[in-house]
Amino acid sequence: MNDPSTEFLRVDGVVKDYMSGGQRLRVLKGISLDIGEGEILAIVGPSGAGKSTLLHIMGFLDRPTAGEVHFRGTRVSALSDPDLARLRNRACGFVFQMHHLLPELSALENVLAPLMVRFGVFEWVVQGAAARRRARGLLERLGLSHRLHHRPNQLSGGDRQRVALARALVGDPQIVLCDEPTGNLDAATSREVQQLIRDLAAETGKTFVIVTHDVNVAGLARRVIRLEDGAVVGSQRT
Ligand code: ADP
Repeated sequence: MNDPSTEFLRVDGVVKDYMSGGQRLRVLKGISLDIGEGEILAIVGPSGAGKSTLLHIMGFLDRPTAGEVHFRGTRVSALSDPDLARLRNRACGFVFQMHHLLPELSALENVLAPLMVRFGVFEWVVQGAAARRRARGLLERLGLSHRLHHRPNQLSGGDRQRVALARALVGDPQIVLCDEPTGNLDAATSREVQQLIRDLAAETGKTFVIVTHDVNVAGLARRVIRLEDGAVVGSQRT
């Protein structure tokens, strides 16, 4: 029998091609990885190596050209687009370099957005109050109790990433995918956000996959995978 820890998320021979100027560009050249439940994995490598592309495939935002992704026994390529979107909404939380908060919504509303998508109008009537409590609780945990009704342009860069972390966690995801989460922050704020990611990973026991070229951020991980030119060229446990 396989080790259950290898059955959480498995990337198996993943290839990704893009068409660029009429040419086929092979961005991922057959990546295989097993990610265990509760693991904190960093993916490092130079710009253009394919890190974000791999992260998007691991978070079901994109499909590989060839190869498979298995999540808890589900062959992801077999899912229809709506089923893939449902899986993504339930299983994944995302934190991007550019926060991607909706500018017209408050911090609290931004955090609630993934749950509004999940529940739809009718279920929201039943679930909305509990969802709001959960979102508030997370924002308070992240030190933003005094910023609940501020819009993104009224928040500092660090506070925006705190809101993005709350939004990533509000749906109780099984995996949190972070793409250069501190890439846009000054050094001191970056350290604060790193500490929060470390604490949240420990508190929640959730799986975190973090793309970064910051060695300090990579230091949060228990395993660091190095990607170069679309291939894994190194793997180190810390
Ligand atoms: P990294 O995150 O390591 O910087 P990316 O995964 O963003 O690398 O990109 C890898 C390569 O794929 C780059 O050469 C990039 O230009 C190319 N690429 C990424 N997305 C697309 C796209 N949608 N269409 C064409 N080329 C793309």
